Amino acid sequence: MIRNPIPWPNGARCAVAFTFDMDGESLMHVGQPDSIADRPVGTSDLRYGPEIAVPRLVDLFAKYGMKQTFFVPGWCVNNYPATIEEILTGGHEIAHHGWIHGRLREMSDEAEAEDIAKGVEAIVSATGEKPRGFRAPSYAMSRRTMGFLQDHGIGYEASLMGDDQPYLIENDRGTMVELPSHMPLDDWTQFVSFPDFGVRMQIKAASDAYAVHVEEFDAMWEHGGLWVSVWHPFVSGRLPRAMQIERLIRHMMEKGNVWFARMDEIADHVNGLIARGEWTPRRHRFPLWEEAQR
Ligand SMILES: [Zn+2]
Repeated sequence: MIRNPIPWPNGARCAVAFTFDMDGESLMHVGQPDSIADRPVGTSDLRYGPEIAVPRLVDLFAKYGMKQTFFVPGWCVNNYPATIEEILTGGHEIAHHGWIHGRLREMSDEAEAEDIAKGVEAIVSATGEKPRGFRAPSYAMSRRTMGFLQDHGIGYEASLMGDDQPYLIENDRGTMVELPSHMPLDDWTQFVSFPDFGVRMQIKAASDAYAVHVEEFDAMWEHGGLWVSVWHPFVSGRLPRAMQIERLIRHMMEKGNVWFARMDEIADHVNGLIARGEWTPRRHRFPLWEEAQR
């Protein structure tokens, strides 16, 4: 059902990346800047992510020998150094997720350039290396974002939803690898009810969300796609949900022939295939439209 499927390493049936966006309290600083001192409840929920959930997830991945990718705003990199150290010690990738979770498309050119530069700077100072990849906070990319990422040598993007497998986005300056996901694999849609942000949803049982995630995986395994979760530690690192993550990992391992990889490794694989002429991905021009058609 996938035309021109990507060949995965060692004949794997599909690739899996459990990616977590470790937003921490950046969401409250940017979402309720005028009243954050009067919002200790929601803030404590967000702090649960870096303090409780991420160490739990790092332990879980270590148990199964998995290395995964955490997208972290630069402000969070600077403010949760112990958590960042745990992530790095676990062999995981830290990728770019903006400075303090601002919406890029609502910024001026200068503000977006500064936001992305500050995010790079924080990751470099914590890890000694430039980030390899990026996911836009709140998926709010602007038409400029790709160019600013190119300015910093960032090689893959992980916000878009245009395929079941990697593809390329291109502009006049060149191409970037796109590692897409889509909303069924974003935990916000399953679990988040957050009064401070006016989000009030019926919350699913962790096992109901598992059913969504496992069906998405089984389809990728059957047809050779890329399964990328877009999850948040404060949401999916809660105990019953972490138990379902372990259940999902075991299901994937039992089916077998799955490539569990960091996002930078997947991007390297795509670039290697292209360089060797072994696979030609689809391309999308970025931005997809310059103007609305009327
Ligand atoms: Zn985020």
